[in-house]
Amino acid sequence: LFPALFPALTEASADPDGPGAHRPALRFGDRSLTYRELAAAAAPLAERVTGAGRIAVWATPTLETAVSVVAALLAGVPAVPLNPKSGESELGHIVSDSAPSLVLAAPGDRLPAALGGLERVDVAVDVRAAGSSRATTDHAITDHAPEAPALIVYTSGTTGPPKGAVIPRRAVATTLDALADAWQWTGDDVLVHGLPLFHVHGLILGILGPLRRGGSVRHLGRFETAGVARELSEGATMLFGVPTMYHRIAEALPDDPALAKALARARLLVSGSAALPVHDHERIAAATGRRVIERYGMTETLMNTSVRADGEPRAGTVGVPLPGVELRLTEEDGVTAVEAYDGESVGEIQVRGPNLFTEYLNRPDATAEAFTEDGWFRTGDMAVRDPDGYVRIVGRKATDLIKSGGYKIGAGEIENALLEHPGVREAAVTGEPDADLGERIVAWIVPAAPQSPPSAEELAGHVARRLAPHKRPRAVRYLDSLPRNDMGKIMKRALPHD
Ligand code: ATP
Ligand code: MG
Repeated sequence: LFPALFPALTEASADPDGPGAHRPALRFGDRSLTYRELAAAAAPLAERVTGAGRIAVWATPTLETAVSVVAALLAGVPAVPLNPKSGESELGHIVSDSAPSLVLAAPGDRLPAALGGLERVDVAVDVRAAGSSRATTDHAITDHAPEAPALIVYTSGTTGPPKGAVIPRRAVATTLDALADAWQWTGDDVLVHGLPLFHVHGLILGILGPLRRGGSVRHLGRFETAGVARELSEGATMLFGVPTMYHRIAEALPDDPALAKALARARLLVSGSAALPVHDHERIAAATGRRVIERYGMTETLMNTSVRADGEPRAGTVGVPLPGVELRLTEEDGVTAVEAYDGESVGEIQVRGPNLFTEYLNRPDATAEAFTEDGWFRTGDMAVRDPDGYVRIVGRKATDLIKSGGYKIGAGEIENALLEHPGVREAAVTGEPDADLGERIVAWIVPAAPQSPPSAEELAGHVARRLAPHKRPRAVRYLDSLPRNDMGKIMKRALPHD
């Protein structure tokens, strides 16, 4: 039998007065649920949605969203988390693509017209009633087939329109258990969470992760450094964030000794979803004595690699393959990369393992294209490996690998170098067609002081000294801000074109 996704919930449900039943599970602001209360809150909802084909969840960062997803998982009904900040056309695309039969939302939520055709089920979690209820549920002890779809999560849409990744229960369980191994993550851990709940990072790692371990999560509603400092000083042990959050932490640290002290106490600071700039990694390490560890994953693969809690955290790397994950760097199918990247082999990351999705919903073409003939998933991310196996992501094949003057140059290391210049607040690097070089390196800069931005010559010299002359930007464009999506990822395809 496949083990139930949430043993602690199963136990609390079977024995509501047992030792684990009163342990904290979820907290959003001042509303919280123990395991027993979560089982009681999710049970009637699981009952209600049983038999539905697929359900959409209006994924605000609330207790209601977390309970809704848990209920769907208990019922064995695939849930499609929706980003409440998506525009009408994106929501319209997701709803018509995934065809849910109903949408779960909190009573006060105003749903946009794109969801107008769906039956609405209001989810109101009454935390006080949950506390007194002794309701238990058979659902909590029901097991569903490992390959049954648990969630349909849409990719971030960084490189094109979002695709619905069908994620089976087997992948959720194995990725969370692999992370538990890598991070020594247990039921004693308390997670501080400030991420949205409609992607893998915030939902699967941030909510389902602590629940699978029997631990707890405290969600900030929205990320702010003061909340992080408060929770870490009040017993939270780990923080998950995206690089824009760690950037804000790095910026705040010099003036906030309480934040530095709180971070210094954390057991684990984890970053993912995009590359953590080396400059931010180092500023945090200098101010707190703690190093952020990076993990690398995708909607399609869940987690692939991580720096291990018992390993050496190294700025600019995403660590080693997680248990059960096979990883290779290839130039072409089955051929190990040999092309020179500063003397190292750069190749596309391909992965295989029980962490992988089943397919893109309604996209047999895209699904087939995504896999090699021998069953490896093409991530589209390019990387090199340190001699001891640590993976360094160079960037995405489509947007971050610049072929200039006979070299292959990764945008990421140039971005890292630019960010170390005091006049640069944000940086993105792209390649543009060039008659001479094939492609020329272009830097998009948000200056720290808009009145006196660093000149193009200044920045070219800075990069040439730090990296190598052929990596210097040949053109610099100044912007007020970089286009970013809801996870803070830079959308290079949305940079203005000439
Ligand atoms: P789309 O596939 O719709 O274009 P997306 O690839 O951004 O969007 P996600 O599945 O949310 O959608 O993101 C996965 C990607 O995020 C990876 O392929 C990789 O490029 C990037 N990524 C995730 N973690 C890291 C990391 N630690 N360092 C660098 N890049 C990362
Ligand atoms: Mg992608």
